Amino acid sequence: MIQQDHDLSAFNTLSVPSRALHYIHCESAAELPSAWAEAKAQGESCFLLGGGSNVLLPERIPGTVLHLCATSVLTPQVLADDDAGIARVRCDAAMNWHAFVMWCGQHHFYGLENLALIPGTVGAAPVQNIGAYGVEVASHIDAVHVLDLSDGERKTLTSGMCQFAYRDSVFKRDAGRSLVILSVDFRLQREPALTLTYPALRDYLELHGCSPSPDTLREAVIAIRSAKLPQPEAIPNAGSFFKNPIVPLDHAERLRARYPDMPIYPVEGVVEQKKIPAAWLIDKAGWKSRNIDGVQVHAQQALVVINPLRRPLGSILQFAQAVQEDIEQRYGIVLEMEPQPLRALSEG
Ligand SMILES: Cc1cc2nc3c(=O)[nH]c(=O)nc-3n(C[C@H](O)[C@H](O)[C@H](O)COP(=O)(O)OP(=O)(O)OC[C@H]3O[C@@H](n4cnc5c(N)ncnc54)[C@H](O)[C@@H]3O)c2cc1C
Repeated sequence: MIQQDHDLSAFNTLSVPSRALHYIHCESAAELPSAWAEAKAQGESCFLLGGGSNVLLPERIPGTVLHLCATSVLTPQVLADDDAGIARVRCDAAMNWHAFVMWCGQHHFYGLENLALIPGTVGAAPVQNIGAYGVEVASHIDAVHVLDLSDGERKTLTSGMCQFAYRDSVFKRDAGRSLVILSVDFRLQREPALTLTYPALRDYLELHGCSPSPDTLREAVIAIRSAKLPQPEAIPNAGSFFKNPIVPLDHAERLRARYPDMPIYPVEGVVEQKKIPAAWLIDKAGWKSRNIDGVQVHAQQALVVINPLRRPLGSILQFAQAVQEDIEQRYGIVLEMEPQPLRALSEG
């Protein structure tokens, strides 16, 4: 049912005050096509919101917001469960991501343990190719089912067609602006296959005397994240606010000569580029706890921008720009924001 002048401040983890001219909640992807038709009848721009954990909302949204985010528990569908130990599981886009990870654990489908406790919906997970502790969701996605608003057709994108990259996919680009993700097919293992490349995970398991298993790995991820990251319900934030910059090799070498303690990581498959932790740059530049107009960098987590006073988007963007300008001046690196302004869906 369409609602007017709807308050969205509780639907974004930065708690930015925001109101939508019109609003329709969809409990599952099955409700999306009729919601879209209703929204179109308003003759206004249309916007798609999931869990609101990676968006920047303006104070007024001059159109209809379709909110695809389940409040109840949805049940994924097992499509295939073959002898080779690989299963395919389909999940509705509206389902809460962490609830899906927990469901997989309970039903012995493995591979997503490192991605536990990431906020948001299953439908938004492919959009920025969510990743944590050495695993990206792209490596477990078989196909993404979409409604293409440019022709009203339902389509299936293979993993290759999604053009996954570091925190990126076709859904973030202009070519993907007419695509609404309805469900995602995951490729999961029946035998545990643990990714323990992050020392923090190994240290946690060792410290707590746990032998590595999918359950203990998931518990470790949940415990580390809970201790490390501020919970948006208590302190509004959008997780990592800036992407880790990728720079040309010669730039990285110049920085290493100037800052010998700067951590520099390889970029998989690309020798001429290096990845530098944005948190290190922001921390070294002295931004931890610095506050402009009520917005600040978290005291313990340099990558997390917090909005404790629930300031509007303008204050967040002003703060982000101040950090970006300072980092560019010091290191010659332009930091890119991870959460993006909510964009209007396009019909073609
Ligand atoms: C505390 C915290 C920790 C976080 N940790 C991580 C982390 O470890 N790793 C990581 O990668 N991210 C992390 N994030 C970012 C965020 O949780 C993810 O990007 C998440 O996938 C966003 O999901 P959402 O449903 O909230 O999307 P939203 O914020 O609602 O939307 C994000 C974008 O996706 C689009 N979108 C939403 N649903 C759909 C759909 N069904 N079809 C097409 N487009 C859609 C929206 O239009 C918008 O452009 C974190 C955020 C927070 C607040």
